[in-house]
Amino acid sequence: MMMNQSQEKLYVIRNYYDVEVWNIDRVIQDDNGETRVYALRKDSGSWSASWKLSDIQESSKMAFSEAELQPELERRRALYELKDGQIHCQYCHKAVDEKSAISYRVISYANYGSRGRLGKYCSRDCANFDQMAHEG
Ligand SMILES: [Zn+2]
Repeated sequence: MMMNQSQEKLYVIRNYYDVEVWNIDRVIQDDNGETRVYALRKDSGSWSASWKLSDIQESSKMAFSEAELQPELERRRALYELKDGQIHCQYCHKAVDEKSAISYRVISYANYGSRGRLGKYCSRDCANFDQMAHEG
């Protein structure tokens, strides 16, 4: 992926498979010689951010055209978009058939008191990871 003067927009995947459009404000070289892309989020002039050009080029979540994001978007929709009878895994957010989901009670007195929190997971691994995430 090349960057040239005609590129005005940056497309960023957020929230699993939403695409945000950012208007490129300026492209400059920083003190370390890195090319940085400054952009404002469309429809919200107050949101601005900058990224290293090299990070944008390496990321499958950011691109200068929407078409370049399509393979990643399709991959994510297949994983995360809910179909009939599906729920999201409490830990990794993947879509999983509710019937085959694993119920697990995360024990964390600090977060959920003595009753814990019952969640549904795509796998035993995700239940274990969620439990570990709630331990000190
Ligand atoms: Zn999961």
